[in-house]
Amino acid sequence: TMAHSKALLVLENFIAGKFVPCSSYIDSYNPSTGDVYCRVPDSGKEEVEAAVKAAKAAFPIWSSKSPLERSQILNKLADLIEHDLEAFAQAESKDQGKTITFARTIDIPRAVYNFRFFASSILHHTTECTEMPTVGCMHYTSRTPVGVAGLISPWNLPLYLLTWKIAPAIACGNTVVAKPSEMTSVTAWMMCKLLEKAGVPHGVVNVVFGTGAKAGEALVCHPDVPLISFTGSTLTAQRITEKSAPHCKRLSLELGGKNPAIVFDDADLSQCIPTTLRSSFANQGEICLCTSRIFVQRGIYSEFLKRFVAEAKKWKVGNPSDPTVDVGALISKEHLEKVRSYVKKAQAEGARVLCGEGVDSLVLPNGNQKGYFMLPTVITEVKDESCCMQEEIFGPVTCVVAFDTEEEVIERANSVKYGLAATVWSSNVGRVHRVAQRLQSGLVWTNCWLLRDLNLPFGGMKASGIGREGAKDSYEFFTEVKTITIKH
Ligand code: NAD
Repeated sequence: TMAHSKALLVLENFIAGKFVPCSSYIDSYNPSTGDVYCRVPDSGKEEVEAAVKAAKAAFPIWSSKSPLERSQILNKLADLIEHDLEAFAQAESKDQGKTITFARTIDIPRAVYNFRFFASSILHHTTECTEMPTVGCMHYTSRTPVGVAGLISPWNLPLYLLTWKIAPAIACGNTVVAKPSEMTSVTAWMMCKLLEKAGVPHGVVNVVFGTGAKAGEALVCHPDVPLISFTGSTLTAQRITEKSAPHCKRLSLELGGKNPAIVFDDADLSQCIPTTLRSSFANQGEICLCTSRIFVQRGIYSEFLKRFVAEAKKWKVGNPSDPTVDVGALISKEHLEKVRSYVKKAQAEGARVLCGEGVDSLVLPNGNQKGYFMLPTVITEVKDESCCMQEEIFGPVTCVVAFDTEEEVIERANSVKYGLAATVWSSNVGRVHRVAQRLQSGLVWTNCWLLRDLNLPFGGMKASGIGREGAKDSYEFFTEVKTITIKH
């Protein structure tokens, strides 16, 4: 209807400090109602070309600013986002389907912190120097920004993950062309509105909206973009690697996971159960770090399962803007169907679904009947070879299986193609160290989950990625290093 189309939010690309309309647009859905509520530019080569040109033009001035000057601008931007925290949180929840509580307490505060963190860390890096007195020389390293950084981010933690790339890239003196997910572009567009006020010079941050196939690939293939930082699926990363190979681009790839939780007999279940529920179902299970294989030692298996399922049933699914809701909507109808299909496959293989999808009934408020909702689902009696135990589901579905020995569980935990994050639950400190050492996983959390110090490396092994991000790691990725030798 007319009234309906009038209410649509229409986004524009942000190039050289200006909002510019695009010739065609993509519909963007509100996942909690199923309505189209926003139109996102369907950018392609032309728009990417303009953005790269603007970023190249801004590079000489931005890269020659001192770290302190850049730091002050990043801090200002952090303050401005924080000032509008509630508006950003509302927008993120509406656009992505996540609960308003999650957006308010995790997504937007972290986006603010990403800028503050890199505003600070950029001031503290030092380079190396070594001497060779016997031949009368010294060597030192010098680091310079690389140029125009291409940044591509996914839909699950939209502003959180995009700023985790923009902040270090510009702190180091690069200029950027960013492409958020076409499904969650609104908060990136809102951030663009604050850049000028923060003092970010025109062309330093350019945002081009659109699909991966058109806008994303144009960025990956652009000869003047020497580095790509990508967070998303392993399949897309393979494509990006192929497409960028002719240009020998520098790549940072943060990909999917099939993360195990290992619960030993001596675990403190009063801590383990609520945390493992969160690690399985937080943000609808749409976090790359979410647990989806829970290995429980035989002695406590039935007790764990009973308590875990009873608690999972208490998670309230519904309107994301209701602050009492724990589980919002999944990102899209297609994704919901995909997640559901895993549960069906598990059942067909003879696994048991203890709660959630197909077992309990989902009651939704009136306005949300067409939203993409699903109950937290717990699967058991599932084989390690099952696709539910091997593939990333990326929804509120977790599998619980029993194990007997430490040796056995390490082998089973490692027997997937991914290697992003693991949790280990035990009160035996020696065991915790032993197991952590042997897990093929970029991150191991023992007796906790999602506690992060941004100073330390973040990233995955095996099919979960290449490279690490963090204070020092992002600095190394976003700068070029040169070794200079001086003979005296
Ligand atoms: P995706 O790979 O489909 O898309 C990610 C981004 O890449 C989007 O912006 C998309 O438009 C773009 N893209 C798609 N095809 C492209 C192409 N050919 N060239 C260039 N860009 C292209 O992933 P998604 O579905 O948006 O996100 C979910 C995935 O992201 C999951 O696998 C999840 O585990 C992963 N993820 C990983 C991390 C991490 O830090 N390791 C964090 C969050 C999400």
